[in-house]
Amino acid sequence: MAEHPPITPVMQQYHAAKKDHPDCLMLFRLGDFFEFFYDDAVTASKDLQITLTSRQRGKNGSIPMCGVPAQTVQGYLAKLLEKGHRVAICDQIEDARKSQGLVKRAVVRVLTPGTTSDLDLLKANENNYLAAVHALNGTAGMAYVDVSTGEFCLTQLPEIEITDLLLSLGPKEVLQAQQVSLLPGTQTLESNNPNNRFTLTEVDSWTFDFEYAEQILKDKFNLHTLEGLGLNGYPHAVSAAGALLHYLKETQQSALQHLDQPRFFQQKDWMVLDPVTVRHLELVQPQFKETPRSTLFYTLDRTSTSMGARRLRNWILHPSLHGEEIEQRLEAVSSLCRDTIVRSELERELLYLHDIERLLARVTLGTANPRDLYNMGASFLHLPPLRQLASRLNSSRVTALLGQMDSLEDVCQQITKTIAEEPPIQLNDGGVIARGYDEELDQLRDISGNSRTVIAQLERNERRNTGIESLKVRYNSIFGYFIEVSKSNLAKVPDRFTRKQTLANVERFSTPELKELEIKVLEAEERISTREAELFKLLCTDIAAEAQRIRTTATAIAELDSLRSLSQVAVENDYIRPRFSLNGSIQVEAGRHPVVERMLDQEGSERFVENDTYLDNDNNLLAIITGPNMGGKSTYLRQTALIVIMAQMGSFVPARKAFLPLIDRIFTRIGASDNLALGSSTFMVEMTETSQILNTATDRSLILLDEIGRGTSTYDGLAIAWAVAEHIHNRIHAKTLFATHYHELTVLADALDGIFNLHVSARQSGGKLIFLRRIEAGKADRSYGIEVARLAGVPQIVISRAQAVLTQHENEESTHQDAQDIPERTTQENIFGLLSEGVTEGITEEIRNLDIDKLRPIEALSLLYEWQQKLDPADEEC
Ligand code: ATP
Repeated sequence: MAEHPPITPVMQQYHAAKKDHPDCLMLFRLGDFFEFFYDDAVTASKDLQITLTSRQRGKNGSIPMCGVPAQTVQGYLAKLLEKGHRVAICDQIEDARKSQGLVKRAVVRVLTPGTTSDLDLLKANENNYLAAVHALNGTAGMAYVDVSTGEFCLTQLPEIEITDLLLSLGPKEVLQAQQVSLLPGTQTLESNNPNNRFTLTEVDSWTFDFEYAEQILKDKFNLHTLEGLGLNGYPHAVSAAGALLHYLKETQQSALQHLDQPRFFQQKDWMVLDPVTVRHLELVQPQFKETPRSTLFYTLDRTSTSMGARRLRNWILHPSLHGEEIEQRLEAVSSLCRDTIVRSELERELLYLHDIERLLARVTLGTANPRDLYNMGASFLHLPPLRQLASRLNSSRVTALLGQMDSLEDVCQQITKTIAEEPPIQLNDGGVIARGYDEELDQLRDISGNSRTVIAQLERNERRNTGIESLKVRYNSIFGYFIEVSKSNLAKVPDRFTRKQTLANVERFSTPELKELEIKVLEAEERISTREAELFKLLCTDIAAEAQRIRTTATAIAELDSLRSLSQVAVENDYIRPRFSLNGSIQVEAGRHPVVERMLDQEGSERFVENDTYLDNDNNLLAIITGPNMGGKSTYLRQTALIVIMAQMGSFVPARKAFLPLIDRIFTRIGASDNLALGSSTFMVEMTETSQILNTATDRSLILLDEIGRGTSTYDGLAIAWAVAEHIHNRIHAKTLFATHYHELTVLADALDGIFNLHVSARQSGGKLIFLRRIEAGKADRSYGIEVARLAGVPQIVISRAQAVLTQHENEESTHQDAQDIPERTTQENIFGLLSEGVTEGITEEIRNLDIDKLRPIEALSLLYEWQQKLDPADEEC
């Protein structure tokens, strides 16, 4: 049997630490470096792009290792968390200089993608969520928390809806019970995690036990019962919250005073925007990295604080479904729009505020540094003027926010009194506590300061006594204080100097007097450092005790900033307040696309052309929009969706007038993209998105279809598009904008009452295609694809040939309906075959809905006549 090489004491320490954190990459401190060993080293070297080396282990073996400098470790940590790793930091927990033998090391922090609170590891404008999911017998509970701010929410819902909710929330990490035995046919969270958007962490199943969860929640929030939180009847939600809290306790080793009491929410509280829609509408992420300004968030974000920016982002992703809530936000925006002076002064005050939410989290998690506290105090100084300014606004919502906003003068005073001006980031750099705050500290500082003056005096004296002009008193951490003399002056060194060290060009000495001073200085400095740490910790504890006041204040500031931002954008871009109609119709007069409009303005190239949108539940349910390529169809579709989203988040909208219903979901099927990594072709992606729409949309939804069926053969595609339009019209009754180049679909408008045609206008002049960008009633005559290809620079020879082929094809179409080589399904007759199927379905539906008892004979006759007209395609125009 091969003999195992002996393990050094330091590696024994490593193994002991690693044993407690087997699922983490272990960063192990060795001197000025953090090292990875074994498999962790292989993973880290790959993910961090650092060189993999090896450490000799006895005579016959070596251990893979790689390392990063301790000073720059933060950047590497960020990369590892982004890659979804959990990381344990095993640091030296005693001063290496003072330790006798092996320095003590211990795991001081465990970082996971969902629990980090380091400001430089987080995106300022985004929340960093950790979620836990508990699913049983078709019902799921989900709880999520942002450790870096304190937000804590939970819900319970049908298991089938959990993926959508998770993906729309976008957590960085999701906890689930270990070895969850899922029912046959139930999808796993893994399979619902495309592109590893979140890290899936398995935790002990017992942490999801209801009784345990109930207890841990009651203990954490000091409650006798969970009833007050409205959690009765939601056991799965409670279980998820319990596991979440347990995980936080394990990884954070903190009392988490900044955590909110868990707030129960329901899916029906906000409009559902699935990830596909969020991406297609470029709500918060640009579709192309090169155009970071193309998002709605970029357009609406005029916030001054990160807290406000996160709130705004949240509102964009979760437009409200509560009319009252929306009206309150709109009323606040309205009052801010009116008061130009308060609006601009508020901006000025808000700019002084640091990220109070995240600073507070760092305080309660025990990771705050002196600069964090200083910034917190500096921010609090601006709370009284901020409150005073806000109180000048005539808005009930702002008044309510003022009620939540504390001026925190006591906490502010305590911080400013304790922390020195512009303190260092690191506590052990010294100079953290303000002079005059602590008598003992001031005395120690005097001793240390005086001794330094005495040392400087000693240096001057020794120069004079020895006649060595270049003599210096210096200090280093190994030898302490010493007198340094160059080799050329050694002859002048008196006997009372004791040699300490010889270097190439200099010799170092000590004297009894210097030694005595050194002891005084070092002792004082050590006591200063200990006292500063004590006082700093005390201050953190005091601030943590006020966590709830600070947190509530920060939440109110976030909202005020977000409302202010919306008002600023509204004024600058001439937006109007939307009204909510009860009749369920979308009526937008002179609407604009908020992002395209701004981009065109900046380019100064073209003016944005305003357009109306009218959709209702009767004759204007589904619009088929045709028109030239590049005409503006997609822009029109998106602008309608964005106006709806903006209105429901409480923003003014880019239009002259807007009357809107509350839309429960927006669905989009836009463009062509594949997901080869997940085994989906372009067409498959298109059909999956279509299927999701057809299976989930309701009559309160808004559907945007920007082409359907383009990824397959023309006739298959047309047939699918046709059937989808009919289905939405006949069964779902969702308001729909359907942009297409299948001009054949326009005949649906003649057949089905709720379908109507719109087109984007363009005209040809002097052989040139001019886009008018106006949305008008009726269908377009053609798509002008070849003209657009010419504009795009396709070679003239190809354009001419395309033109010839098109002319030939159009001639054949009009004269030879019976052409042998055209597949059967392509003839007009078959198109009308498809049509009559749809018509029949429409008529059947109408018959089903008929209230015969109330029908008069004359009405029955006229209905029969109408249906006969619909069934006779010969009378239709095409
Ligand atoms: P395709 O059928 O080829 O997909 P499309 O009809 O969907 O084209 P869009 O992509 O909506 O066309 O618009 C093309 C460009 O036209 C946009 O990028 C925008 O710059 C400009 N545009 C669209 N609508 C307007 C408008 N109302 N006013 C001014 N410019 C517009």
